[in-house]
Amino acid sequence: MNYRDYIAIVKDFPKEGIVFKDITPLLQDGPAYQSAIEEFTNYANRLHADVIVGPEARGFVVGCPIATSLKIGFVPVRKKGKLPRETVEATYGKEYGEDVLCLHRDAIKPGQKVVIADDLLATGGTISATIELVEKLGGIVVGLCFLIELTDLNGREKLQNYEIFTLMEN
Ligand code: IMP
Repeated sequence: MNYRDYIAIVKDFPKEGIVFKDITPLLQDGPAYQSAIEEFTNYANRLHADVIVGPEARGFVVGCPIATSLKIGFVPVRKKGKLPRETVEATYGKEYGEDVLCLHRDAIKPGQKVVIADDLLATGGTISATIELVEKLGGIVVGLCFLIELTDLNGREKLQNYEIFTLMEN
């Protein structure tokens, strides 16, 4: 499967100078979406994942079908103020200012093996904050998977201690 054929490149979105990778054509194509999820499912299965964690919102689209394929749980990471019960928080720097990501405090049990899924690895800020949350709760991050890695942004440098699987590089 040539996944690259299913990514739309959108110049100057969401603002001038950004070249946005739009994954919605891949999601719209049944066989392409299914094939990508199957690859991630095999990866998470090989790592004996107990639970899949995904940051909002595209991490849900990638992570949930992996979890149901493996008959294991899915845990959502959300922006501050969205989760209704007690949470742990991690702050990370964005291009302009900071953002806070949250996990329910009882979402991960100590010692559980976690695979984190998202659509795209750019600077690695989102995933580093997600790892911090999982580890605060005693989870063991055994793998990270993404549809796309933007290699120019060096996200991997922040994630040197972790196993990474990506379907395409850009
Ligand atoms: P990072 O935190 O810099 O690694 O950025 C990754 C996050 O930003 C992911 O959750 C992506 O959904 C989102 N993102 C950044 N750039 C793009 C893009 O070109 N297409 C789709 N999502 C993007």
